[in-house]
Amino acid sequence: MTVRTSPASDLIVARPEGLYCPAGDFYIDPWRPVARAVITHAHSDHARWGHGHYLAHEHSAAILRRRLGADIHLQTLPYGEGINHHGVRVSLHPAGHVLGSAQVRLEVGGEVWVASGDYKLESDGTCPPFEAVRCHTFITESTFGLPIYRWPSQPELFQDINAWWQANAAQGRASVLYAYALGKAQRLLHGLDPSIGPIVCHGAVEPLNAVYRDLGVQLPPTVMATDPSLDKASLGRSIVIAPPSAARSTWLRRFGPDLADAFASGWMQLRGTRRRRGVDRGFVVSDHADWPGLQTAIRATGAERVFVTHGSVPVMVRWLCEQGLQAQAFATEYGHEDDSEPGMPETGGESRQSSDAAEAGERSGCGKPGETGQPGEGGERSEPGESGESGESGESGEPGESGGSAGPGAAP
Ligand SMILES: [Zn+2]
Ligand SMILES: [Zn+2]
Repeated sequence: MTVRTSPASDLIVARPEGLYCPAGDFYIDPWRPVARAVITHAHSDHARWGHGHYLAHEHSAAILRRRLGADIHLQTLPYGEGINHHGVRVSLHPAGHVLGSAQVRLEVGGEVWVASGDYKLESDGTCPPFEAVRCHTFITESTFGLPIYRWPSQPELFQDINAWWQANAAQGRASVLYAYALGKAQRLLHGLDPSIGPIVCHGAVEPLNAVYRDLGVQLPPTVMATDPSLDKASLGRSIVIAPPSAARSTWLRRFGPDLADAFASGWMQLRGTRRRRGVDRGFVVSDHADWPGLQTAIRATGAERVFVTHGSVPVMVRWLCEQGLQAQAFATEYGHEDDSEPGMPETGGESRQSSDAAEAGERSGCGKPGETGQPGEGGERSEPGESGESGESGESGEPGESGGSAGPGAAP
């Protein structure tokens, strides 16, 4: 295996603005405004406002324009089709995360790097499944990069959710299921059994359903809460898909005082999360890869170097090093939008956590004693969001977990 350690050959490096490709002079999912940005998917922590030019998958276009403005300079690509930019071949490949989500493949002179964005492996029926792309260097997320995270299969999951809904409907209680509005909500809708009762969607969810349907994704019929067809009896049989921010809002009152509620998130795997969030049920479902999924995906790329962006970074870096790979942390500002926690205040975007990690500038990687993460970091993970006011920090992991990084340019 050829070991590439020369910083000069790095196709992607860390910059304060985001992941940067020096050869092509563009960024991938930058968190500060830049001239040219390749966007992996439309979640707000990856697709930010203010870039001069955007390149994204064609199925992200409608949501990006909706969220960032109809007048953004947006170029789109289908999966697998390459363009040449300053000698860098750029192509997008399915990430299986949400509709339009893509891994970004860069190639210069036979050297191939892939930046994953967010991804999951199990096919969910609402977007093309993750496709392993062979590369020399893979930049991976690690949102759920701890051995405790193992998702139930999709059929098991929907059996549970539909049975819960059915049991509530039999008692005339509305079922409120909290899920992130883009991606998670549509994935849940796709698996619901509409014969049980009406499916009601919150105003933050329904417009995204329309985008999915326009692009050919099959979703069952849904109505808004104000729909005249909803009388008291039908509300008592309904399931309501709402974003976590709707928890404890006055909007919920129309569904009656004894509604049943549940939260759909990968964090539900943690013992005690559901109880502390004050919902009746927790369904373990995530649009991110679980621990086995991350390992499978990383192996399938054949990469010899791996950079880990957000989530349980030190644990994943250590595991990769033990597999004989060159692994390093890569401080980013991702992880503040999807899989957020219910009942937490909504704070816009930026989180102190990753910024702190970025400023810490600590290195985490293989090869030198003391650089493979601190002992015990993996074992005593507290719950995301528990530390207080950071709001939608659910994805970003605990303070200090990202470990910071000298970036890919600083090879061991
Ligand atoms: Zn995402
Ligand atoms: Zn993310």
